[in-house]
Amino acid sequence: MSAMTMTARPATELHRDLKSKWGGTAFTSICGGPHPTGDAASVLKGESASDTGRSPGTGFDYACVGEGEDIVKEVALGLARGKALDGVAGLFRLKDDELTGEVRRDRVDLERCPPLPMRNRFPTHIEIGRGCRWGCAYCQTPGIHGRVERFRSLDSIEKVVDFYARTGMKDYRFVLPNALGYASDRPGSPNCDALSDLLERARSRARGGRLFLGSFPSEARPEYVTAEALGILKEHVSNEKLVIGGQSGSQRILDELKRGHSVEDIRKACDTAIGAGFKPAIDLVLGFPGESAEDRRQTFKLMEDLAGQGSRVNMHFFMPLPGTPLAEGTPVFLREHDRRVLDRLAQDGIVRGGWRRQEEFSRIWVKRRRDKSPCP
Ligand code: SF4
Repeated sequence: MSAMTMTARPATELHRDLKSKWGGTAFTSICGGPHPTGDAASVLKGESASDTGRSPGTGFDYACVGEGEDIVKEVALGLARGKALDGVAGLFRLKDDELTGEVRRDRVDLERCPPLPMRNRFPTHIEIGRGCRWGCAYCQTPGIHGRVERFRSLDSIEKVVDFYARTGMKDYRFVLPNALGYASDRPGSPNCDALSDLLERARSRARGGRLFLGSFPSEARPEYVTAEALGILKEHVSNEKLVIGGQSGSQRILDELKRGHSVEDIRKACDTAIGAGFKPAIDLVLGFPGESAEDRRQTFKLMEDLAGQGSRVNMHFFMPLPGTPLAEGTPVFLREHDRRVLDRLAQDGIVRGGWRRQEEFSRIWVKRRRDKSPCP
């Protein structure tokens, strides 16, 4: 199974039910994904908020830490040969209540792993690169995929688009941690030649299908949103919106987060996007550790200013995700006044997003940490 931090609880509970139905040794269970990569012990202990007093041993047999493709292959070969899995680097388990296992150092070679299963028709996002050089303090991506950016080659992207076009696929949604950063070798600047080659070659194979880049779940860093990059994008993609990662209207908070861009960059990116004919959708987050009333006021001000120019905001609430530098950070929860502002902006159609659910999740998470009770 795979689990994000927000889905760790249902994954843990489903696993517990399966083990109880079929017996503890009927199958080998492994949980991978962002959550076990950041907090392997919690899935191995079978922690779940709804079942705090449970005895150990109902957790997963193994946690898969980091990228999984090569590990899945070694697991399959090992099980087929009747071998124990303890020697597979990247798999961790509990031994006498201690976490044991070997960290996997090598990264997956994207050229050997197609972004979609080519034997089946399984249309979903096409991952065109991994890793992120920026290392924002709240983000799990660099911890899972590393800070060295790797990009799928144009040849292999063309091949997968061609394959799926022959199966009748109509929409091609490319996903990358930084949507306009494909093959960029200069931090803070898009590689417009590579972007152009990517989209031209994909379109030539898509047989009239629609291309999407810079739409959910990928977002563009503001400083990569240049007129040249968006001119290329506009020529080829079908998304009307451009999702831009802004995160905060407070420069102090952006600096604390190590975002590496300014509030002014966010404003410029929105102007540029509107000038190029896109509708900007800005991702902003409230509740970062240490966020003051003044930081929050600046974020609200940015929202109002951007809304006046035609942008919309995807509002999030900070979650202290395991495996990130802010994993132990304490969120600053919303005050009544903040909720009223957000509700008004939501009613005006300026703000949307999952901040309410995320704030609730953060509360449970922080309580769990405080009580040293199991994960939500
Ligand atoms: S938030 Fe975006 S830019 Fe920052 S580390 Fe994560 S993927 Fe990279």
